[in-house]
This record gives sequence, structure tokens and C-alpha cells, in this order.
Amino acid sequence: MRITAARFLGAAGPSGGAPPPGPPEIAIGGRSNVGKSSLINCLVGRRGLARASQTPGRTRQLNFFLLNERFAIVDLPGYGFAVGPEEEQRAWGPLVEGYLRERPTLRGLVLVIDARRGVETEEEQVLAFAADVGLPVVVAATKLDKLAAGAARRRVVELKGWLGARATLVGFSARTGEGRVPLWRVLEGWIAGRGRTFEARRPNR
Ligand code: GDP
Repeated sequence: MRITAARFLGAAGPSGGAPPPGPPEIAIGGRSNVGKSSLINCLVGRRGLARASQTPGRTRQLNFFLLNERFAIVDLPGYGFAVGPEEEQRAWGPLVEGYLRERPTLRGLVLVIDARRGVETEEEQVLAFAADVGLPVVVAATKLDKLAAGAARRRVVELKGWLGARATLVGFSARTGEGRVPLWRVLEGWIAGRGRTFEARRPNR
């Protein structure tokens, strides 16, 4: 997909602030320093987009960006900094979990992992949570360029097997752009309406 327009819509924190639900949304999350901003900038084709999320005070908020005036990506706070016994039980706090559970316009989640590290405890928790709230997940295994070609191929096969039906796996590199096309293909499907819809899951709850 070619992104011709991108703008910051707003940020949500514990006291609110999320833009009103409107266009379809795709959430993007992962542990801190995994390469999430680089992946977003690579997808969107703009270097500085995700930087808005990194200004002080914004790193623990959800940052909304409207693309092509048609759909939004939502940059979630990084996890992996345990702050207390209760927080250690889960990858994300109640702010993100509430958003993922309740947002009527949210279609799916891109879970960014480091291809070299694979799926760890926090990612298992995120996958279980997403399944529980009926949210489709694509796992983007990024920094694939840091593995030798053969090892990268083996790792992608291994991760696909590990995830099974729980999530789609896309090998990615923000450095080479590998994975950009297949990842967009998944997201385009969600934007077109094949992700979660609030109507579809409401009867179960
Ligand atoms: P974030 O904290 O998850 O947003 O991570 P960043 O996008 O800021 O990336 C963290 C570090 O990993 C930076 O030094 C990036 O240059 C590097 N990085 C991110 N993606 C890739 C990638 O695909 N390949 C390589 N080689 N380095 C990457």
C-alpha cells in the first residue's frame, strides 16, 4: 500500500483522550526496543512518524495516526518494564487491555517480536489475551536481516509452526523492507472488513 497522507490524531492516557471511534484501526505493539517504531516508519514510508510517540510523556500512551484519511494505526506503549507485582502478571496494563477489549473500530493487532528472540512469556500472554477478546493477530518477526539467510528462513518456519492457528507470521526487516508487502496484505484485509468487528463478537459477551 502507498501511504500518501499521514497525520497524528491524538493520544490516549489513563484519563482518556482517545479520538472518537471512526475509521478502522490497527493496533501495533511489542516489547520496548523491539523495533516497533522502525517497523511503523517502514510500513508508512516516513522516517519521523512514530517519533511523535517518543516525546516525553507519550511513551506510555496510545498514539493514533490517520493514514490516507481512511484508517488509523495505533502505536501501543511498549511492554517489558515490569513495575510491580501485579503488572508482572501481564504484558500490558489495564489501559491497553481495555482499549484492545472494547474499541469498537479495532480490527486487529500487529505484535512485533524480535526474530532472534521469538515468542516469549509476554507474547504468549498477549496471544492468549487477544484470543480471549476475539482479536486477530499478525506477528511481525522483525530484525530478520540480523540473521543469516538460511537461519532466517528456518526461524520463520519454526515460528509459523509455533504459532499455528493463533496468528499469522510475517518475517520483517525495517532495514531491507522485507515483509512490508505481505504485512500490508494482512492489514488491507482487516481494513476491508475481515478483521474483528464489534457486531460479530458482541453476541458472545
Ligand atoms: P522501538 O523502541 O520498539 O520503537 O524500537 P526502534 O524502532 O527504536 O528500534 C530499536 C533499535 O533497533 C534501533 O537501533 C533500530 O535501528 C534497530 N532496528 C529496528 N528495526 C530493525 C531492523 O529491522 N533491522 C535492524 N538491523 N535493526 C533494526
